[in-house]
Amino acid sequence: MSETPYSYDAPASQALFDRAATVTPGGVNSPVRAFRAVGGTPRFMVSGTGPYLTDADGREYVDLVCSWGPMILGHAHPEVIAAVQDAVSRGTSFGTPGEGEVALAEEMVARIEPLEQVRLVSSGTEATMSAIRLARGFTRRTKVIKFAGCYHGHVDSLLAAAGSGVATFALPDTPGVTGAQAGDTIVLPYNDLEAVQEAFHRHPGEIACVITEASPGNMGVVPPRPGFNQGLKDACSKNGALYISDEVMTGFRTSRAGWYGIDGVRPDLMTFGKVMGGGFPAAAFGGRADIMAHLAPAGPVYQAGTLSGNPVATAAGLAQLRLLDDAAYDKVDAVSARIQSLVTEALTKEGVAHRVQNASNMFSVFFTDREVRDYEDAKKQESFRFTAFFHSLLADGVYLPPSSFESWFVSTAHDDQAVQRIADALPAAARAAAEATA
Ligand code: PLP
Repeated sequence: MSETPYSYDAPASQALFDRAATVTPGGVNSPVRAFRAVGGTPRFMVSGTGPYLTDADGREYVDLVCSWGPMILGHAHPEVIAAVQDAVSRGTSFGTPGEGEVALAEEMVARIEPLEQVRLVSSGTEATMSAIRLARGFTRRTKVIKFAGCYHGHVDSLLAAAGSGVATFALPDTPGVTGAQAGDTIVLPYNDLEAVQEAFHRHPGEIACVITEASPGNMGVVPPRPGFNQGLKDACSKNGALYISDEVMTGFRTSRAGWYGIDGVRPDLMTFGKVMGGGFPAAAFGGRADIMAHLAPAGPVYQAGTLSGNPVATAAGLAQLRLLDDAAYDKVDAVSARIQSLVTEALTKEGVAHRVQNASNMFSVFFTDREVRDYEDAKKQESFRFTAFFHSLLADGVYLPPSSFESWFVSTAHDDQAVQRIADALPAAARAAAEATA
């Protein structure tokens, strides 16, 4: 059993976790799921419906993780399930081209003007890895600029000062990534255009691309300051580098056209995942057709995948995207705004210093009284208050991301009843945060 005071009563989850730990490192298949940042027993979920998850002990939670973003229509949306069942009934993988992947690519291209062509892959990591390779192949340059606290998946060269699980575990260097792999990565503070200009000045003709989260959610939610993304784009254009906007998290979530639909800054390449897969492993990278033409088999830059464009995953993604009209985004934005103000209200009432930061309907809470503009700011928050806040909500049936370095996500399924459950649980959680000690 876990030795933290935060196990509560989750014997079935604990038994599964113990079983898992014998066959899987740390008992999980993705590190943040293990609850290491907050302690206690990770809840093993058995089903999801709308805004709710049910764990192995039969307890129901209002889900504010939404599978880390993808489930923007809630769990088991009937139309997505129907599309999946229809696709599955015709076979699960052919290793040939199929109409579903064309339709999904068409839907994406129709929504995002600078997205002229896309290549489908199976994870956000694959998408960013491939986009970086293509940028290097296209520009014939080696160096990549990324920002501290931005997470782009576990691509070797991008696991330098990354956010998300890497932030949670404070792993400054991941063993297994060689100096050669990370040596061409220049890590700069987020929201600091001067640092970008200085890097271009120091490395003339060497920088292939700047990759940035379109609006970061992996150090908690830290939106770009006005003009930051445009400044990146301009610096890239001026210096012959490509501007890669990583929309794996924001894509088709923050608006119909993702973060591009909000800031209108034209990337040369973009990456996607999460929402576009409808809860299945589908992701993509794409952008300017003249750059994408360098990709195999049209061009020399190699990239491939056995399950790329999988018919079940593309059916789920397409069904989800087709349901995401303006009304759906209005709904997600509105429920997100309501929950944000409930959180602020509860914490303010208890006198807890905090900032709720948002990027459209993505948001997170920092336990600090100062605006968080970069990773250094994010690390200064009082994370011990988050731990107490998290466990109080969990005990009262509200499931938050188990780390203060992650975005919270809501869906069109978060109705008045789900919001009321959150509202009922917040006062005790705010009190727990107020009383917490380091
Ligand atoms: N890029 C961003 C912005 C992400 O948030 C993530 C995952 O959270 C990734 C890339 C990696 O995606 P995946 O976990 O599908 O490999």
